[in-house]
Amino acid sequence: MMTAKEYEESLRKLNLVVYQFGKRVENVVDDPIIRPSMNAVAMTYALAANPKYEDLMTATSHITGKKINRFCHIHQSTDDLVKKTDMGRFMGGMTGSCFQRCVGMDSLNALSITTYDIDQKYGTEYNKRFLKYLEYVQEGDLVCDGAMTDPKGDRGLPPHLQPDPDMFMHVVEETKDGIVVRGAKAHQTGAVNSHEIIVMPTISMREADKDYAISFALPSDAKGITYIMGRQSCDTRKLEKGRIDCGNANFGGHEALVVFDDVFVPWDRVFMYKEYEFAGALVEQFASYHRQSYACKAGVGDVMIGAAQTIAEYNGVQKASHVKDKIIEMNHLNETLYCGSVTCACKGSAQPSGTYLVNTLLANVCKQNVTRFPYEIARLAQDIAGGLMVTLPSEDDFNSKEVGKWLDKYFKGNADVSTEDRRRILRLIENICFGTAAVGYLTESMHGAGSPQAQRIMISRLVDMAQKQRYAKKLAGIKTED
Ligand code: SF4
Ligand code: FE
Repeated sequence: MMTAKEYEESLRKLNLVVYQFGKRVENVVDDPIIRPSMNAVAMTYALAANPKYEDLMTATSHITGKKINRFCHIHQSTDDLVKKTDMGRFMGGMTGSCFQRCVGMDSLNALSITTYDIDQKYGTEYNKRFLKYLEYVQEGDLVCDGAMTDPKGDRGLPPHLQPDPDMFMHVVEETKDGIVVRGAKAHQTGAVNSHEIIVMPTISMREADKDYAISFALPSDAKGITYIMGRQSCDTRKLEKGRIDCGNANFGGHEALVVFDDVFVPWDRVFMYKEYEFAGALVEQFASYHRQSYACKAGVGDVMIGAAQTIAEYNGVQKASHVKDKIIEMNHLNETLYCGSVTCACKGSAQPSGTYLVNTLLANVCKQNVTRFPYEIARLAQDIAGGLMVTLPSEDDFNSKEVGKWLDKYFKGNADVSTEDRRRILRLIENICFGTAAVGYLTESMHGAGSPQAQRIMISRLVDMAQKQRYAKKLAGIKTED
C-alpha cells in the first residue's frame, strides 16, 4: 500500500490537463484551491497505514490474498459492507468533507458484478479483463474516479435522439486494438486526484442506444482527456494569507467536468461494449453502493453536531433546554442516516460473481433520507450558531492594528474562550453550510448518487406491495387467491 506521501508523489508524475479560472493548471498537486481536496484523499492512505485503524481501513484482497486499502476492495461479506459504512463515517468525521475515493470503490464493486453477469449471458471475457485490471489497481493502491454522469442534454430524449450526439459518452470508432470514445462526464468528484478514471453508462438503454452502452477504464492522464474544475462558493478564500476564514483550511472536495475528445481505449480496458441491456443493471448496482456510501454525510454530520455543541458552549447557551433539544434532534437525524447505511449493508447478499451487494431497497431509503436530513441538521446548526456565522468580518480585520481590538472585544462570548476560537468554530459551520464543504454536505446529498426522484422510483419498484396487500386483506377478512 502507498503512504500518503507516496500518493502525493504519484500524482506529481501524472500529466493531467486541468483548467481552472480559464487557465491551465501547471501544478495540480500544489494548487491552493485543489490542494485541500488532495489532502482529503491522502487521508485514506494515512489512516490505512495507522495500525489503530487497520481493521477498518484495510482488507484482504480476494484475488491476491494481500493486504490492501479497503477503498480498493471487492466486498466479500456483509461484514465488509458494514466496515465500508463505518469507514465512510469515520473519514467524514476526520476530514469534514468529501474524501472522494468512494466513487472508485463503488465502480469497481459494481463492475465486478456486471462483467460477470454479461459473461454468463454472452460468453464474453469481461470479468477476466476486469479482474486483471482490479489487480493492477490493488497492487498500485490507486485512486479511481468513478465516472457515471453524462451531461444528458435534453432530458426528455434518449441518447441516440439527442441533437448533439456527444451528450452521452459513445463509441466513435472501433479498431482491432480498441475503441475511440467521445463525450463528457459532469460533476466528477475527485477527478484530478485520481490515477484512473472508470467510465460507466448513466442510464438504462435500449438497442438504439447501444453505441452508448459502454464501460471502460483509462489512466487519468490518457491523451484526449481534459478536466475543467467546478468552482465552489468561497473557493478564493483559499488564496488568502489567513487560514481561519476558510473554516476547514486543510480538507475539501472538488468536482470537475471531464471531456473525452476522441480518446483511445485498448480492448483490455473495455468492460462493457454495446450490451445495452446491462447498462441499467450497472447503473443500479453502482447507485446502490454509492447510496450506501453516503454514510460519509453522517461523518460530516458528526463534525456539524460537534461544532454546534461547541458554539453553544462558547456562546454560553448550552444549558438552555431548546438548545439541548436541538442538539438531540441533530443527533437523531444523523444516527438515522447511519442506520440506513448500516442496515442496507447488514442485509446485503452475495451476487452470482461472489461480490456482496447492499440491499438495494434499503440503500435507496438510506439515500432518500440523505436528500433531506443534512439540510435540517444544517438549519439547526445555524439556529444555534447565530447570525455571526455569516456577518463576521474578515481575518485581515481581526489582524488590523486599527480595528482588530474592537472585533476581539465585541465578538467575545464566554469569558473563558478566546474570540479567535469562537471565530474558528463559526467559520467551520459556515464552511459546511455555505462554503466549499456545502457542495459535499448539502447539494451532493441532494443530487449525488441520483436525485431524490431516482430513489423514489426505485423504492416504488422494490417494495413488495403484493405482500403488504395480502396482510391487509387477510386481516380485513377479504378473500384472496393465495
Ligand atoms: Fe465518498 Fe461521500 Fe464524497 Fe461520495 S460524497 S465520494 S460517498 S465522501
Ligand atoms: Fe457522490
